[in-house]
Amino acid sequence: MLQKTSPYMRQANLIDGQWVQADSGATIDVINPATGLKLGIVPKSGRAETRRAIEAADAAFQTWKKTSVLERHKLLRKLHDAIMDNQQTLAELLTMEQGKSLTEAKGEIAISAAYVLWFAEEGRRAYGDVVPSPWADRRILVTKEPTGVVAAITPWNFPSSMLSRKIGPALAAGCTVVVKPASQTPYSGLAWGALAEEAGFPKGVVNVVTGAAGEIGDELCTNPLVKKITFTGSTEVGKVLIQKSASTVKKVSMELGGNAPFLVFDDADIDRAVEGAMVAKYRNSGQTCVCTNRFFVQAGIYDEFVAKLAEASQKLKIGSGLDDGTQQGPLIDEKAVEKVEELVEDARAKGGKVVTGGKRHALGGSFYEPTVIADATTTMRFMKEEIFGPVAPVFKFTTEEEAVKLANDTEYGLACYFYTADLGRAFRVMEGLKYGMVGVNEGLITTVEAPFGGVKESGLGREGGHQGIEDYLDTKYVCIGGLGA
Ligand code: NAP
Repeated sequence: MLQKTSPYMRQANLIDGQWVQADSGATIDVINPATGLKLGIVPKSGRAETRRAIEAADAAFQTWKKTSVLERHKLLRKLHDAIMDNQQTLAELLTMEQGKSLTEAKGEIAISAAYVLWFAEEGRRAYGDVVPSPWADRRILVTKEPTGVVAAITPWNFPSSMLSRKIGPALAAGCTVVVKPASQTPYSGLAWGALAEEAGFPKGVVNVVTGAAGEIGDELCTNPLVKKITFTGSTEVGKVLIQKSASTVKKVSMELGGNAPFLVFDDADIDRAVEGAMVAKYRNSGQTCVCTNRFFVQAGIYDEFVAKLAEASQKLKIGSGLDDGTQQGPLIDEKAVEKVEELVEDARAKGGKVVTGGKRHALGGSFYEPTVIADATTTMRFMKEEIFGPVAPVFKFTTEEEAVKLANDTEYGLACYFYTADLGRAFRVMEGLKYGMVGVNEGLITTVEAPFGGVKESGLGREGGHQGIEDYLDTKYVCIGGLGA
């Protein structure tokens, strides 16, 4: 059944340093979206296995929290090296379970390693404060301590890098983790367990459990030993996790859905905007939280932009991610294709003009053609809903005020992009957009050095940047009295 095996393709949970199956022996099939064939299995675990993983993480935390920051730094550097030494193997595994092109998968593995290195360094700079005291005989210290056991739940679209932004800062801060990867792409998550072992992390510091999301999630959210929930996924599930973790008042970080606008003004460099649009739209076949969901283009350049975007879209090479030269792989599954079909039909019925694409790709399965839809209107479903597929709706606008208003007309606030050559406009629009991240004349802005995250219903907290470690640390105020005047 296996199409290709990898030394990192673990088909078991990692709990307290042991690779184990689900108590019931139940399993979940993992499918390669490019072929529709079964790649392998993983345990279908539930509450009991999760509880044991939490207890192991808590036991490990008692000693891990006392390790020196330099010791943790050294282990994280080893983890970084283990990832990069196996970049190709890990990328192939990622492509096989997720579908993205090998080039993109290698990029994801590289940024995973980069996050680990970044947080290894940030851990050494998690400074406290000495505060000027209002009392002559007392001193005020503010220290930072690791939060404790962290539960991390991640989605299928970036199965490696979404974990690196959680595991990296957690371990650097002195926390231990229980990870629950997405059921469709569990191997890249389990690989983190194997890599952590290889790097020499003590048993119980990194635990990985696959299986029934509801059961595992319930245990992670309600078990008092877990001090923090960090989640990347849909807004719908994020809200459930926030509610459930309220019963034990856990810290929460939420990286949720997006509805990114991409504005192009009359004064923009159109070719540069099209280049940015291609990456902001089609990366990972349009299945990223920061992918453009809505293009807003000013009337004077509308036709030219649509024609150039359609031309570039037609040139994309579609195929299995493992094939040489593939730029766009399949969507994750049949359900994702059906959602895209529904949104395209909705747009067609409401007067949208399909300039290119608009149907399943001749390769069959879950491949879909890169699609550009002109004459998009605000009554179309993709004005409000995440497309999560290779469809580019292009709306027309007249004034700057109108463009900013349209861009902000969503409950989401993750990433947005705009193109202009006018400096004054660049500042006005940047300040007017209610988003956590803004690309000005850039369509791909994620980097480990910068804080990634959203506002409104796109989430809470930031990953990356110097901010990314803060959520894994508790602040302690210490007042030392009786020191004499
Ligand atoms: P999802 O359905 O919310 O699933 C994400 C994770 O949550 C998976 O591991 C899933 O497990 C688990 N899950 C589902 N229901 C759960 C429950 N009741 N309790 C606990 N865990 C539960 O999202 P997705 O479809 O995988 O990912 C796409 C979404 O993620 C999009 O909305 C996208 O915008 C968002 N995203 C956001 C960011 C960001 O940084 N803001 C980055 C990437 C993706 P199973 O797989 O077992 O169902």
